[in-house]
Amino acid sequence: MIDEGRGATEDTSQTQDSGEFARRAAELDAADPLASYLEEFVPVDEPGFVAYLDGNSLGRPTRRAAAELGELVRGAWGTDLIRSWTDGADPWMEWPERVGDEIAAACLGAAAGQTVVADSTTVLLYKLARAALTARPGRDEIVLDTDNFPTDRYVLEGIAGECGMSLRWIDADPREGVHAEQVAAAVGDRTALVVLSHVAYRSGWIADLPAIAAVSHGAGALFLADLCHSVGAVPVELDAWGVDLAVGCTYKFLGGGPGAPAFGYICRDLQDQVRQPIQGWMGRADPFTMGPGYQPAAGIRSLVSGTPPIVGMVPVRAGVGLVARAGIDAIRCKSIELTTLAIDIVDSWPDALGVRVSSPRDAARRGGHVTISRGDFRQVNAALWQRGVIPDFRAPDGIRLGLAPLSTSYADVVRALDVARTVMTRGAGAP
Ligand SMILES: *Cc1c(COP(=O)(O)O)cnc(C)c1O
Repeated sequence: MIDEGRGATEDTSQTQDSGEFARRAAELDAADPLASYLEEFVPVDEPGFVAYLDGNSLGRPTRRAAAELGELVRGAWGTDLIRSWTDGADPWMEWPERVGDEIAAACLGAAAGQTVVADSTTVLLYKLARAALTARPGRDEIVLDTDNFPTDRYVLEGIAGECGMSLRWIDADPREGVHAEQVAAAVGDRTALVVLSHVAYRSGWIADLPAIAAVSHGAGALFLADLCHSVGAVPVELDAWGVDLAVGCTYKFLGGGPGAPAFGYICRDLQDQVRQPIQGWMGRADPFTMGPGYQPAAGIRSLVSGTPPIVGMVPVRAGVGLVARAGIDAIRCKSIELTTLAIDIVDSWPDALGVRVSSPRDAARRGGHVTISRGDFRQVNAALWQRGVIPDFRAPDGIRLGLAPLSTSYADVVRALDVARTVMTRGAGAP
């Protein structure tokens, strides 16, 4: 079903435009200081494959992840067995804090001792939000926004019911996102907690976290940031920005793999004031005394509940290692070039195609993905998947182009959007 035709006879402007963009992409690729990282990923071995544009949803696997998973099975697990939990230079028991610190150093702007890897984003968000409420007794409101990722909204709705809290909703523009002024208007002396995403999962809008943290603190509230769509693509400075708590996933721009565990951050000053709700043996002081009653471990360890997900952390370490080596600032520079190129290409399409850019045009407010919209994009996305171009569709009418900087070339963007334009010119249903 792969159709190699470029439609040059029906639409001559396309050949010209894509030639110009192909030249620009070739120049950018040739000058790209991160180009060598493309080789760090497991290649896609599929006839007709064109480009993967969904690195903001499921990052591609690194070659190191494949190798190190094999080594884990044969070595630390297969040979050292139970001893690996406690013995050697890198005992599994310490991985939650160790891998947390690796993520914190590579891309969270957080000093050591404030981040652990555990659970899923959803579960950690629950634990962190509940923990935050214990530090703000007597306050009964949580501020959130209508455009946050569904799991965030559902978790907070559940907590509100469970703890007798009210939810104060900010009506966020889905083309943009939440502004600090809206947060300022929503918080007050009843607000215990503000929960927002750094980068909006649909539009890619970058919220002003330092301003939002300041506004939250001005009202005496705590601020919890969801970093799922920024970590590994957009620099984060949790310590400098005054964010109190944060959560994020490792399987998007960090390449941790499907279902990889999440990370949670609690700033040091708050760690003694909060109590998370899932009291498990792995977050207890001296877990192997197996003693009566729960006493939280010191520091960030108390955010851990059960046995650490070691298998899931192996690819996370590989992915975070790449981010650390490449440098988050260099990654951000390439990310801006990639998303700018995508927007320029879409802007060059004839108005008759009816495609709108639904992401911020200001690069400073745009994360690592670009959303474009048209009424029939559900069908167009399906047609793209059949033709080896893999973005994703988000209701009601958006195709998200997730341009993971370490695994995406500029030529990928041009080739993929060339196919998209052909599909739309001919109709999504055409062969
Ligand atoms: C991807 C994403 C999640 C995912 O949560 P899981 O528990 O890993 O399924 C949560 N929040 C945001 C903002 C996301 O982008």
